[in-house]
Amino acid sequence: MTTVKAPKYIRENQWAGHPNPLWHRRDKKKVTVLYNMFEQRKSLFMRAYFERNGYNYRDLGRHKAEDVYYGREWGTRMMCNPAYFTSGTFIHALFEIEKKEGLTKEQIVDRFVFVGGGGDCGPCRFGIYPQEYMHIANDAGFMGFRVLIVNPDIVKIPPDPKNSAFTCSIPFLLQFTIAIVLADLIHIGECAVLPYAKDREAAINTLKECEDLLFKAFRNPFFMVTLPIALYKAGKKLAAIPRDKKKLPLIFVTGEVFSNYANGDANYNLRRFIIDEGCEVLPCLFSHRSLYECWRKKVLHRPSIKFSKSIKEKLYWMNFANMETLAIGTILFVFHFFNMFFNQKQFGGKGTMHNLNKLSALAEPYYDKRILGGEGNMEIAEALYYHDKVDGFITVKPFGCMPSSGVSDGVQSKIISMYPDFNFLSIETSGDNEVNILSRVSMMLFKAKQKTHPE
Ligand code: SF4
Repeated sequence: MTTVKAPKYIRENQWAGHPNPLWHRRDKKKVTVLYNMFEQRKSLFMRAYFERNGYNYRDLGRHKAEDVYYGREWGTRMMCNPAYFTSGTFIHALFEIEKKEGLTKEQIVDRFVFVGGGGDCGPCRFGIYPQEYMHIANDAGFMGFRVLIVNPDIVKIPPDPKNSAFTCSIPFLLQFTIAIVLADLIHIGECAVLPYAKDREAAINTLKECEDLLFKAFRNPFFMVTLPIALYKAGKKLAAIPRDKKKLPLIFVTGEVFSNYANGDANYNLRRFIIDEGCEVLPCLFSHRSLYECWRKKVLHRPSIKFSKSIKEKLYWMNFANMETLAIGTILFVFHFFNMFFNQKQFGGKGTMHNLNKLSALAEPYYDKRILGGEGNMEIAEALYYHDKVDGFITVKPFGCMPSSGVSDGVQSKIISMYPDFNFLSIETSGDNEVNILSRVSMMLFKAKQKTHPE
């Protein structure tokens, strides 16, 4: 008879993950928040929030192509490209602080925290981003580095720790929403005026002035008064930019959230490229993406209400769904309220917040709305909605993304076969390979121009 010997060494707590000590509120002033969102303007407006609320804050800036190499070097194998970009920017920043400011690793751990994204995302990797940040920091020698996650849920599971110097409280989430809406409004202006501006440089400078105006207004403690005034002035400035009257092909870009919204190296600055090539691009609104996030959670938890085992459980899920409804209402209110002062129509802005029930109904026969991950049914719904409204449709996928490349693109082939004239292009972003990708985009834009000016 064979006997099995117990192993001599058993590692304890091997699945426990890395420690993430509390950033106590009494240490608020001693610590600097490192932060950047996937797009520069959103980081800028978040800076206004942090500064107004007495945080020391350092914007890590735009995600740069070299960051992805840091992510690949230090990160777990087989992650997706956005994970490499975000974790790479983070660890790159820690190395830079160590090198340029002469601090030891212990001092850096003591004096800095990182605020990043992470959450539930079904089959995708977004849920493991927080552990990935901690894993990278610890492997690089920054033992016990503190990572704080922006969790947009109003009902928190688990709840935010008590005495933390930073929590995703309701006032924070509200101002986070405002920051996103402000960045979206400037982006709407950029997409509307740049392709037609008589003097492109002057138009870029005006956009920068508008950004500064909104930033100062949002940093003001009375921002609910100063922001509408600033938005009114910014809208007027954009409307005054001299423009050519010409017809340009209209392009829509969608895809995985990071690759779609990064508007920098992470998507080869795709929208600016499309504008430079002489086309108009529809704006991408993160407010709309946030709306989808809340809508998706409501849809997902409907069965939880229906099949609850007790009244208590049913009430819990009903409360969850009501909170998501409240979040949807808040996002829509903030967008439309500020847009009323900005008045995007005066300069030809095309920023739209769709009715997600209607949009989702289009995709229903092809993609179940309960399938999680990436953009879920929305990419398919958008293809069906825009196929006869735009001259070109691009969907952007990060390298290594299962839900967006593997699932959505599989269904997109069905949509293309239904509409043979649909000018559709799917591209994969990996941080390098820029020339190849942009040449494919150029060919697609050429077809779009032929559609607009057939002679
Ligand atoms: S949707 Fe794709 S690329 Fe985005 S976090 Fe999930 S797996 Fe990564």
